[in-house]
Amino acid sequence: MASVTLSDVRKRFGDLETIHGVSIDIADGEFVTLVGPSGCGKSTLLRMIAGLESVTGGSVSIGGNVVNDVAPRDRDIAMVFQSYALYPHMTVAENMGFSLKLRGLPKDEIDRAVRSAAAILNLEPLLARYPRALSGGQRQRVAMGRAIVRKPAVFLFDEPLSNLDAKLRVQMRQEIKDLHQRLGTTSIYVTHDQVEAMTMADKIVVLRNGRIEQVGRPLDLYDRPVNRFVAGFIGSPA
Ligand code: ADP
Ligand code: MG
Repeated sequence: MASVTLSDVRKRFGDLETIHGVSIDIADGEFVTLVGPSGCGKSTLLRMIAGLESVTGGSVSIGGNVVNDVAPRDRDIAMVFQSYALYPHMTVAENMGFSLKLRGLPKDEIDRAVRSAAAILNLEPLLARYPRALSGGQRQRVAMGRAIVRKPAVFLFDEPLSNLDAKLRVQMRQEIKDLHQRLGTTSIYVTHDQVEAMTMADKIVVLRNGRIEQVGRPLDLYDRPVNRFVAGFIGSPA
């Protein structure tokens, strides 16, 4: 587990600043959702935590250490994207073990890690299959399997369920929460879906145009939105 702290984080693309000083404290083991309309900066924030984008101001800390200059692979995180991006020419087991192979782990250790992740996600019967022979939900589960084999302290999710149909989405929400609790990780979950944000989060961060509008527990935001934007977004009668 690890805490994650953003301190006055900024992002400029060329001359244009799109993240204008965002500060968030996320405790060990907390499940936080970042929510807000398309283009408000959710993915950019997540990518800065992952190290896939540099920060142009402020700092990102993981487990109390500033990681601004730490490469993505050396941060104790794993990211699950919306597009499953599985390798089509690899089996499920190979997909899940690939990051460990890149790190030079011996084969028996990789096998053990893959099997243990597969057991957690009910993927054991699918280990020898190729991605084309999987349903959307199964693919998303493999993408999560790929993330958990490394036992990261922090999980980052970028709209992981938006390609799935409504029924599956509800089921996968629960699976992700169960996984979070079972592994005891810290999870940061980006979504533009208010219901998803409200039902999954310990704490919600509402973003708009690269700034935080409000941070709070779901019920606090529902009962006491600070402005019309939050009220409208969270869906309470303003
Ligand atoms: P969200 O995930 O909330 O939809 P993004 O983080 O993708 O929003 O984008 C936030 C803003 O930053 C948008 O205005 C987007 O156009 C801009 N942006 C994102 N990535 C880049 C980039 N690589 N170059 C320039 N602008 C970018
Ligand atoms: Mg996005």
